[in-house]
Amino acid sequence: MTDCERAHILVVDDDPLTRMMATEALREGGFAVSEAEDGVQALALFDAALPDLVLLDVMMPGLSGFDVCRRLRCLPAGRLVPVIMLTGLDDGESVERAFDAGATDFISKPINWTLLRFRIRYVLRSAEAMQELSRSQESLSNAQRIARLGSWEWGVKTGRVRRSAQFYRLFGCDREDFGEDMDAVVEHVYGPDRSAVQAALASAREGVGFQLTYRVVWPDGSVRTVQETVEPARRDDGRGAGGLVMEGSVQDITEQVDAQRRIRQLAYFDHLTGLPNREYFRENLLGATARGLRYDSRCAVMVVDIDRFARINDSLGPERGDQVLQLIAHRLRENMGDRLPAEAAGGSYATRFRVARLAADEFGVLVNDVNSVADLLDTAERLLQVVRAPIRVPGQEITLSARIGVAVMPDHATDADALLKAAETALNHAKRGRGDPLALFSEDMKVAAFLRFTLEGDLRRAIGEDEMRMCYQPIVDIRLRAVVKAEALLRWPHASRGAVPPPEFISLAEETGLIVPLTRCVLEKVCADLIRLEHRLAPDFRISINLSGVNFMDAQLIPTVREVLALTGVAASRLEFELTETVLMRDLDHATAILAQLRDMGVRVAVDDFGTGYSSLAYLRRLAVDALKIDRSFVNELDDGQGVAIVEAVIGLAHSLGLEVVAEGVETVAQLEALCRRGCHLIQGYLFAMPMSCEALADMLGSAFFIPEEVLPLLPPAGAD
Ligand code: C2E
Ligand code: CA
Ligand code: CA
Repeated sequence: MTDCERAHILVVDDDPLTRMMATEALREGGFAVSEAEDGVQALALFDAALPDLVLLDVMMPGLSGFDVCRRLRCLPAGRLVPVIMLTGLDDGESVERAFDAGATDFISKPINWTLLRFRIRYVLRSAEAMQELSRSQESLSNAQRIARLGSWEWGVKTGRVRRSAQFYRLFGCDREDFGEDMDAVVEHVYGPDRSAVQAALASAREGVGFQLTYRVVWPDGSVRTVQETVEPARRDDGRGAGGLVMEGSVQDITEQVDAQRRIRQLAYFDHLTGLPNREYFRENLLGATARGLRYDSRCAVMVVDIDRFARINDSLGPERGDQVLQLIAHRLRENMGDRLPAEAAGGSYATRFRVARLAADEFGVLVNDVNSVADLLDTAERLLQVVRAPIRVPGQEITLSARIGVAVMPDHATDADALLKAAETALNHAKRGRGDPLALFSEDMKVAAFLRFTLEGDLRRAIGEDEMRMCYQPIVDIRLRAVVKAEALLRWPHASRGAVPPPEFISLAEETGLIVPLTRCVLEKVCADLIRLEHRLAPDFRISINLSGVNFMDAQLIPTVREVLALTGVAASRLEFELTETVLMRDLDHATAILAQLRDMGVRVAVDDFGTGYSSLAYLRRLAVDALKIDRSFVNELDDGQGVAIVEAVIGLAHSLGLEVVAEGVETVAQLEALCRRGCHLIQGYLFAMPMSCEALADMLGSAFFIPEEVLPLLPPAGAD
């Protein structure tokens, strides 16, 4: 993997935004990147720089991605270079054409930028395997050239056998120890292959030639594979006068057989985990669906995706990430080891489950002979458990979670590819939802996937036509009994679909790069509202704005903030940005530089969803942040006493670093009490206020609000501060 990290990627896309995003994402992943904005430039760059991988957009003016791919394949250096094509979502035809043009893999847009580099690493690794494969084919033909052949001649009537000296060497024997007559060879043949050899010799006795591969056992016990070719001898050399003479040649092909096995291994099995790869999985699936149709049985596909695996790689390093994948692969294989009796598999002995690695952190399980969907879901549930079991890595214990999409043949699809796709659609559904990690395919999901596709266009339009609305959720200081801050939360009242949930459109905006204009639009709206509210605001009142990772990596972030502040006349001290730990930790040098600039300007920074990532105290100390926001999930757990330790630790940490600490998602008096008791006084949550319009916020700023009686004793008397 270390080699891959320095790999050079050529990004070809006519859309400057996608190009920029890809470049950012890849540089961040440790790759060297060159960019080309059209096919002609791409071909020239390829020639000059010989990149290790090409990321190629399908739709480009001039030479299309397909043309470029085809031309690359004609170049000597381009024959084996991996080419990943970027196609539209659900654009089956393009995918087909991409593969026809010689593409190695494809990624459908919108692109998941975080996963992109892992996908690329994965493809680079398979490319290495392909290259190794062609090298081993080469050495194989060399081996054949220098292979030593043994030969013999057998007068069938006389029973006389003449064998070459080399022949005996193939059996690891001396002439004296081998035995004299033709049948002596049988003694040297590996038990299970003897009957085949005897049958072949019997037919040779009748003058019938044969070619047979069998194994021989050397006196030292080692087993070699030989190939024997036998023909009746030519009659015109005079020797045949006494009757039938057979001639044979024997070749040791052990290396060749091993190499074939290895080639198969390379082509069909994943390097890292030893599991079958996607290719092989697909072949199994073709077999299973064909059997299913013939014997009227059902089979199913489950696709398992490890949650936030990118994060494991980021925080523990790619080597540990690999080890974790190996362990998961091992567990899946161990737990899915049931076998089917031969009859149920339609005659051939097939395993009930087949596990494969489909992509970086995606595994597939083929289930033969499904009895009931309920059984199947039980199995999927078991898979989830298997992934969830804690993993010990040096110094810590981590717990992974996974999501599973399931599809059944013939219920959801009748051919292999459609079945796999249905399972992946179900998986995507499980990934987008916040709830059940297990999803069984339904037609609705196909519709939903299509809707998401169209949602991208709608989002683009909504930003342009100013359809987005801002709302604000007050943050109260319980000691002051006052609203001291508010978090700006975006709303999208979609004309035909109703309100689109923020996580849905935010992730879509991140994947498509639309988050950059979207955040600018948020910044402008918030500043306009701040101006409107200015006369009612206390001097230190702030509004916080959420920034996504893409925003944080955007080189235009700081200039944009400066520009909008200057245009609207809002003071930088009115703003705060919320960034998650993961975003901040991803590139510490970058984070340090950006945070310093924000601090210089007077814009504050809060760490959002604190406690859910892997940040360390040392890093936190280095970064110029001003506040921590305790994640809602921990506050939620306060009710049953669970989250107490974490909440206490976060509050202690914040205090020791001199940071402000805000609790999010406070819904109950009991939670409020627990927080106050531990010294957290900044509270955000439905207990006090839902996100509201700017006007409603203005009203709330002026009025006193209800404080639950239970917490009164924990507070300084009103007005004492
Ligand atoms: P977040 O930053 O963690 O925002 C807090 C979310 O918790 C908001 O959800 C808020 O409505 C919800 N919430 C607040 N109090 C409570 C409570 O007491 N109980 C419960 N159950 N929920 C509470 P919302 O508005 O749906 O936003 C979801 C996420 O979408 C936000 O999570 C944030 O990550 C993202 N988001 C929203 N607006 C923006 C934006 O303008 N830019 C960016 N980049 N992300 C945004
Ligand atoms: Ca937030
Ligand atoms: Ca949050």
